Amino acid sequence: MTKKQLVLEIIKRLKREYPDSGCSLVYNEPWKLLISVRLAAQCTDERVNRIVPLLYKKYPTIKALADAPVEEIEKIIRPCGLSNGKARDISGCMKMLHEVYHDEVPGTMNELLTLPGVGRKSANLIIGDVFGGPAIVTDTHCIRLSNRIGLVKNEKDPKKVEDALWKIVPPEEGNALCHRFVDHGRLICTARTTPYCDKCCLNDICKKNGV
Ligand code: SF4
Repeated sequence: MTKKQLVLEIIKRLKREYPDSGCSLVYNEPWKLLISVRLAAQCTDERVNRIVPLLYKKYPTIKALADAPVEEIEKIIRPCGLSNGKARDISGCMKMLHEVYHDEVPGTMNELLTLPGVGRKSANLIIGDVFGGPAIVTDTHCIRLSNRIGLVKNEKDPKKVEDALWKIVPPEEGNALCHRFVDHGRLICTARTTPYCDKCCLNDICKKNGV
């Protein structure tokens, strides 16, 4: 089986297994996803979902957050950890959204990467989830599973994993596949315990590298 064939089979099986996969960060406007993604670094999505309503209660718009003192943002988001850096990025990002992008989240990789705190992973998530464009989100689950399954070999660099996946994943399938990798990574191909290969729908086609 070539890697392209392998990835098509993985897509087919994971679709069956997780038909409703999607982003577990809760948001109702694109700019709020930018904030949640930044807060989710080294924090659970569940905690981020609990904290952001407090932030929006006090600062309900991009402009309100752009004008907010960084220390006030920091106080609210402290439970998400790394709050100094996150508050600085959120403040800078909202300022730029307001001043440069007229309160609209831009839709291209190059523009998104100009926003403070936004790297390729976040930019891809925005492109995929907000704009429905082709996207490969190389988060920790995507990187772990791609290595274990054998889509990449001993590659931990997110950009290199992304590049390798772009070569084999049909563009319109990338975003949903990455969401399904997250679900599969949380439930079956786990990081902190031995993965549950006996229960895995990919068992017979997975190389189980490093397992
Ligand atoms: S077979 Fe095991 S290593 Fe491979 S994807 Fe499934 S749980 Fe992960």
